[in-house]
Amino acid sequence: MNKFLSFCKKVGNKFLDLVFPLNTKCIFCNNEIVDFDKKPYCDECEKYAFNKGAKCIKCDTRIKEGNKICDHCKSHKRYFEKCFCPLNYEKAVRSSILSFKDSNARYLAKSYAKIIFDYIKDENLHFDIITFVPSHKTSIKRRGYNPAKLLADEIALLFDKPRLETLLKITHTKAQKNLSYSERAKNLENSMMVTNAKLIKGKTILLVDDVVTTCATSNQCAKLLKNFADKIYVTAIARNHLKPEKQS
Ligand SMILES: [Zn+2]
Ligand SMILES: [Zn+2]
Repeated sequence: MNKFLSFCKKVGNKFLDLVFPLNTKCIFCNNEIVDFDKKPYCDECEKYAFNKGAKCIKCDTRIKEGNKICDHCKSHKRYFEKCFCPLNYEKAVRSSILSFKDSNARYLAKSYAKIIFDYIKDENLHFDIITFVPSHKTSIKRRGYNPAKLLADEIALLFDKPRLETLLKITHTKAQKNLSYSERAKNLENSMMVTNAKLIKGKTILLVDDVVTTCATSNQCAKLLKNFADKIYVTAIARNHLKPEKQS
């Protein structure tokens, strides 16, 4: 009987390997790894992937040792309390996130959510609702999904909190990556509206995004939510760090 059970287990594991072949590979660089459940990334990626060292107390970007807040947060009003980004948007982390965002690698949401969960669980953060940065229906149609929503679903399971849709993207805005902060903010103005306003009244919200650069998008979301909610925290998988010249 034991032999039979061990045979079934082997067949079962083979089946799982076929269905989830990536569960033996680093989520960033695809190198083979030993224990995916314990640590879904390889030792090489671990060396650079995590957002460590001196960071802005508001937006989690790298800053000079000894500083507390970046120039960008000093000069722009932030509507969120704090932003949490466990990873650096660099090298294989970047390509992994691009696959998650644009090449249907939805399975990565679970591992990213766990990394976010581990990063903020010791912060003693109290929040009532998890929500996400909305995508316009045109982007959802093109991708087939909203990556931030997938991530928010997984994070909500880990924190055991309700995930609520609170924002609607009503106009399709241009890609933000080559715009300055003020251009980004202008681009986003009036592009979103709050839904479920009654349900977020007086609540503390954790807003989920995929990657954060200037915080223009998350700040605009936070500004709208703050018309009803009490406090907004932001989290994203990775920080695209601001260069010093971009911090002003
Ligand atoms: Zn790796
Ligand atoms: Zn900052």
